[in-house]
Amino acid sequence: MNDKNKELLNEIHEIASKCDRCGNCLLVCPVFTVNSREACGARGMVNAARAITKGGVAPEEDILEAVDYCLLCGACTDVCASKVKVPDVMLKTRQKLVHLSNKPFDYSAEEKEKMNKAFDALCDRCAEIEGPEIEHGRKAAYFFGCQARLDAIDTAVKTVELLSRVAEVELINNECCGLPALTRGHVDLFIEDAKQNIQLFEDVDTIVSDCACCSDTLKKIASYLANDPEWSERAAAFSKKVFSLSEYLTKIGYLPEKHKEQITYHDPCHLGRNQGIKKEPRELLKTAGDYVEMAGADVCCGGPCFFPSDYPETSDALLEKKCLNIEKSGAAIVTTECYNCLKQLKRAAEKSGGKFKALHISEIL
Ligand code: SF4
Ligand code: SF4
Repeated sequence: MNDKNKELLNEIHEIASKCDRCGNCLLVCPVFTVNSREACGARGMVNAARAITKGGVAPEEDILEAVDYCLLCGACTDVCASKVKVPDVMLKTRQKLVHLSNKPFDYSAEEKEKMNKAFDALCDRCAEIEGPEIEHGRKAAYFFGCQARLDAIDTAVKTVELLSRVAEVELINNECCGLPALTRGHVDLFIEDAKQNIQLFEDVDTIVSDCACCSDTLKKIASYLANDPEWSERAAAFSKKVFSLSEYLTKIGYLPEKHKEQITYHDPCHLGRNQGIKKEPRELLKTAGDYVEMAGADVCCGGPCFFPSDYPETSDALLEKKCLNIEKSGAAIVTTECYNCLKQLKRAAEKSGGKFKALHISEIL
């Protein structure tokens, strides 16, 4: 076994061995609430991961299968007395067993072409947008994520319009944030994307992303390159420049336009839990109008990255619960700051038969 592999096993062991198997996490683990088999809950997944660190464990495919069924939502860590970082164990175990995976981890050539064309389309559509009415001297680069490129250019245009009210916006044809590769355990590919993005945004002071998956992943680049003597400083400088949209708007004291309809908010796991940004979108929405909190706002909607295509039944079951909570809130609009969540919430809105609409937060603010 090479040194890198040994190091990885030690890292998995170090985190997983903190688990005392109390089972508290099972009460909040979304996939366990749908499929209540021990192997499908946080405790079972951590145990499976720990098995490979002991050496000589045979059915590694079974272990990959177990750790693959995790949403990486982090709800388990929230309630865990030992603060076991379950998502980290899952990611590192997927990385260790990446050679056994045959699932897609990148966009197809067709999708990549579409994403490049989307950047040209965004530039064209934003060419006429005027800068801020009052000159603040602020500049912000917009990070145009892959899901927005594939499914929601209109929403990205709204974000650029919103940002243009408060800053001079720069459009840079960024690479993917790298989350899809990271989620599948291909850390080397994630690092490749990260290094390209660091170089692309080197001359920029502020990077704003309207997708929680991207902002969270870009902020993590610093820790992934912390031990690389050539890149650590540049990576740390890059991650410090990254802001989520609501975080940035709150920082600069933006006052949203008034909205008439009642609004509720869904917390993307990558924003609320991973970045600790829960208050900011709510405060902005309360200023915008009639805000109502829904039950289970921070429970995963089942939409992260590959999860809906890998596990459609579980994803649908989680979406069903989200849909009920939105309906019970009575809100006419559910909003969020993540394109993966938005895609799910739009499906929920469709299922509800028009009881509510799903909009990105930039379409409201
Ligand atoms: S991960 Fe934490 S909450 Fe879950 S079984 Fe282990 S110690 Fe208990
Ligand atoms: S991260 Fe979420 S899905 Fe994964 S084990 Fe923890 S609670 Fe369950």
